[in-house]
Amino acid sequence: MKVAIDGPAGSGKGTIASILSKKLNLVNIDTGATYRCVALASLRNNLTLDSKEEIVKLSREIDIKIDLDNRVYLNGEDVTDEIRSKEVTNIVSPISSIVEVRKNMVDLQRKMASNNDVVLEGRDITTVVFPDADYKFYLDASLEARAERRFKQNQEKGIDMSYEEIFENIKARDYNDMHKEVGALKRTNEQIYIDSTNMTIEEVVSEFIKIIEGDKNES
Ligand code: C5P
Repeated sequence: MKVAIDGPAGSGKGTIASILSKKLNLVNIDTGATYRCVALASLRNNLTLDSKEEIVKLSREIDIKIDLDNRVYLNGEDVTDEIRSKEVTNIVSPISSIVEVRKNMVDLQRKMASNNDVVLEGRDITTVVFPDADYKFYLDASLEARAERRFKQNQEKGIDMSYEEIFENIKARDYNDMHKEVGALKRTNEQIYIDSTNMTIEEVVSEFIKIIEGDKNES
């Protein structure tokens, strides 16, 4: 079974995918983490966005792994926390706009998902990575709600970004993610749309489960 969830930053995809994976016994693949690894590796190699070719080369050479507890490894090193840093967050969207980088990451994500029942979350899962997924969701929320959630999450993780900084970063990423040449975040008629602005995590999870389990009971 493949469950695909797309949506903008802070819409709750990560939280929901993680809970669903436990409840439905699925492997959870956070595809944003793969782009964040490329961004971190680029920063560590002092590559700027002008060095596209080198970034593409790096995206082909680095080893990215995500384990069953959702820990992320870059060339064997646990970078789960570092990929959430302000520096990575600020450059990840333009890096993920590089078409060849996307190609490499999409190949990797498909490989990670092969032979498994999975839930994948990202921006182009329902449209590019697995357009034939069994369930395709678009999880949304207002910009204000998303910035507020990310602000609270960052505080818990000790990431130093003000609400205003997060709001502006999410707004810029939304725009960039929705206007990519390839793999843009899009709404389509095939997705089930859920607006979580005024919903609790439990309510969103139960909406997802109702749709997935309801379907199972019918067949
Ligand atoms: O989901 P997260 O916010 O960690 O993703 C970081 C960035 O990676 C996004 O802003 C987006 O630019 C990029 N991304 C993408 N395609 C995906 C997942 C993430 O372009 N499938």
